[in-house]
Amino acid sequence: MPEALTEDEIGVLQRSLLALAEELRSLLSSSQEGARPVDLDEPIGRLSRMDAMQQQSMLRANRVSAQMRLRQAEAAMRRFELDEYGICVECGEDVGFARLEARPEAPFCLQCQSLRESRNT
Ligand SMILES: [Zn+2]
Repeated sequence: MPEALTEDEIGVLQRSLLALAEELRSLLSSSQEGARPVDLDEPIGRLSRMDAMQQQSMLRANRVSAQMRLRQAEAAMRRFELDEYGICVECGEDVGFARLEARPEAPFCLQCQSLRESRNT
């Protein structure tokens, strides 16, 4: 079972969480332009139009996942203030440094995360 976070680890994670939120915010503001709908009147040919539409749907999917991650990152920052960071919001166990190092915004421990994923699929 993962150990509770040390103060050093909390400092590291807080910094990477801030950096992540910053990165996601700039990603979201810079990709706004590319997410506009394809202009079908533009004379760009059938293939390149399909390319453009495919690219846009990818961009849009990226935006949606970036928005979700940003919301999770912001929620994680609030948990810092409440002194609840690093504790699974579902079961109350420690999430563990290794997992948080990879995903500092993670609200759930590995076990609860995989349970949720198997429920959703
Ligand atoms: Zn859990």
